[in-house]
Amino acid sequence: MKSIAAMGVATKETPFFIIDLRNLRSISIDTKKKTAWIQAGATIGELYYRIAEKSKKLAFPAGVCPTVGVGGHFSGGGYGMLARKFGTTADNIIDAKLIDANGQIKDRESMGEDHFWAIRGADKVDDNLLLRLFLKSNVQSPFKPGQSR
Ligand SMILES: Cc1cc2nc3c(=O)[nH]c(=O)nc-3n(C[C@H](O)[C@H](O)[C@H](O)COP(=O)(O)OP(=O)(O)OC[C@H]3O[C@@H](n4cnc5c(N)ncnc54)[C@H](O)[C@@H]3O)c2cc1C
Repeated sequence: MKSIAAMGVATKETPFFIIDLRNLRSISIDTKKKTAWIQAGATIGELYYRIAEKSKKLAFPAGVCPTVGVGGHFSGGGYGMLARKFGTTADNIIDAKLIDANGQIKDRESMGEDHFWAIRGADKVDDNLLLRLFLKSNVQSPFKPGQSR
């Protein structure tokens, strides 16, 4: 899992560009299938909020800070309060769409299992921009609605 200290490091020698993901933040939740598609520009707080709007029983294991972005958090592993029981965020991602440096959009099947494994916890995604992720939100929340720990 990456450390916060490694974020945002750029040098004059290494060319880089910044992509604004603010409009890439839709979240669609299927409570029957207990899955969700989330775009990489959303925050984990937005994900928690949308799940809670749809279900008082479902939850998703990710970090504790609601302002953290999905793109970096999910590709870095994602550790939070539900992790001991349900694993990391990366363990609960079942598909992903990304665009590679050649402009090809790939999903789990077309990127291959090794690549899919690498984008879930292997730090930077480098030549790939994560577009959206397919989550299994089938975790039964251990907390009752309104309960504080
Ligand atoms: C206040 C705070 C609390 C935190 N709490 C937790 C916690 O409880 N648990 C935990 O596990 N971590 C935690 N973290 C760490 C956090 O998960 C990482 O900082 C994470 O990388 C944040 O992702 P971001 O998209 O917001 O950041 P960014 O800085 O935007 O991205 C981080 C990295 O991911 C890459 N990236 C971002 N979006 C994409 C994309 N769409 N496609 C490809 N690459 C992308 C960036 O290029 C960069 O290398 C916390 C961080 C902060 C600041």
